Amino acid sequence: MSTLVSRNPVTGEVVAEHAAADEATVREVVTRARSAGLWWTSRRPRERRDALLRWKSELVAGSADLAAVIRAETGKPTTGALLEVMLAVEHLDWAARNAHKVLRRRKVAAGVLAMNQRALLEYVPFGVVGVIGPWNYPVYTPLGSISYALAAGNAVVFKPSEYTPGVGQWLADAWARVCPEPVLQVVIGDGRTGQAVVESDVDMVAFTGSADTARRVMAACATRLTPLVVEAGGKDALIVAADADLDAAAGAAVFGGLGNAGQTCAGVERVYVVADVYDRFLAAVTEKASAVRPGADDSAAYGPMTMPGQIEVVRRHVSDALAGGGVAALGGTDSIRAPFVEPIVLTGVAEDSRAMREETFGPTLVVNPVRDVEEAIRLTNASPYGLAAAIFTRDKARGLSTARRLRTGAVSVNSVLGFAAVPALPFGGVGDSGFGRVHGADGLREFSRPKAVTWQRCRAPIDLMRFDASPRAVRTALRLFRMRHGRGH
Ligand code: NAD
Repeated sequence: MSTLVSRNPVTGEVVAEHAAADEATVREVVTRARSAGLWWTSRRPRERRDALLRWKSELVAGSADLAAVIRAETGKPTTGALLEVMLAVEHLDWAARNAHKVLRRRKVAAGVLAMNQRALLEYVPFGVVGVIGPWNYPVYTPLGSISYALAAGNAVVFKPSEYTPGVGQWLADAWARVCPEPVLQVVIGDGRTGQAVVESDVDMVAFTGSADTARRVMAACATRLTPLVVEAGGKDALIVAADADLDAAAGAAVFGGLGNAGQTCAGVERVYVVADVYDRFLAAVTEKASAVRPGADDSAAYGPMTMPGQIEVVRRHVSDALAGGGVAALGGTDSIRAPFVEPIVLTGVAEDSRAMREETFGPTLVVNPVRDVEEAIRLTNASPYGLAAAIFTRDKARGLSTARRLRTGAVSVNSVLGFAAVPALPFGGVGDSGFGRVHGADGLREFSRPKAVTWQRCRAPIDLMRFDASPRAVRTALRLFRMRHGRGH
């Protein structure tokens, strides 16, 4: 068995060493999960809810400790780590308290053709869900899948990112303290361990990570037709209409673009500003962004780039944007001082450049002028990604109609990431940002199979589901059919 070493991205110091799970270990863990899952499913909904709430209490009581592990492995400031724990706990609480209401058996209308039937619908768990997570929000993001999968009655095998194994271990240890069965287990390792999870006999995979890895995971899932949820990257746009509160919009763009060093799947990467207010907006963004400082200390606004390889991606995008005619309103390639990247604001960047097409995942903002909101919508929708977007406008009707027309899974009007703290709303993307949903009632259903049951209460008055149906019954059925559907509406 090999060893996985996690390091502090600022100092390079070893945070912890973990045994990496190979294929055989993953298989054993999945087998254990299967029997734990049967136990879990057979508990009463109230017992599952109580176990999840006990787990929640562990997260709350241990939040300072958990935040310290997040900080050690990702480098983010303690406030950012705590914010992520607080948001994750809100979702866990919602999933625990709403699972039964959303998934329980209910009667649905049987319809005229089946008046003699009682029709029942319920949502049953898949069994064992393999959850594969990223490093950027190592609690909030995987818990979006784990909480909802557990609440829906599944056992979970969680493969955290190789950059944040300690966080994954912390979550599984907390579970072990509140539940006698290994309903949640962790397997630690890099992509090979992730691949072993996908290729094991898990009943479903919830993947969060880059679109490229998602393609490999999807190809592997195809072998066994394993159902898959993909939460992938983004290239989110923020649109500033001429009537927007410019100060609020600039503040949101700066927080949405630079927060967590830009390492946010639904962070702001592109800003489209209506020409009339472009100069004023750019000045406000530049002023606010220049006051933001990265660092290793706790009073820094954001921390280092967690994954060393991402620094070169940021450098490539910035150089490419500048070489293609873009202008740096703040910073430039000199702002990249590994492991930190100081805020970079670019403008006039060509739409076909890397900085506009690919996920940068760094503390950069591209602010481009547009003729009007129509053009902003067209450019926003031209991205292969479609995770989230934002629009700033004082016109409610414009805000809502723009939200409808944006090809993304979520839209915030007059804020950024507005949906992140609303557990009842589903989260997920379009196109290269993935498919399927976590969070909310849709998130609970995502981790369940709808099960249809009919219960015949009496014989049908007109029964055609038999070989000896009388010609009279067929004629009556046809007459009723034409009366019901033959009038053109
Ligand atoms: P990544 O794709 O490199 O890795 C994600 C996970 O997949 C890791 O745990 C990794 O070990 C595992 N993995 C790698 N190869 C695998 C394989 N062949 N089979 C199975 N698993 C494999 O992504 P990352 O760098 O960890 O995370 C950053 C990405 O995640 C960004 O693109 C970001 O936008 C995205 N993200 C999306 C969301 C969302 O909810 N949509 C949330 C957070 C991050």
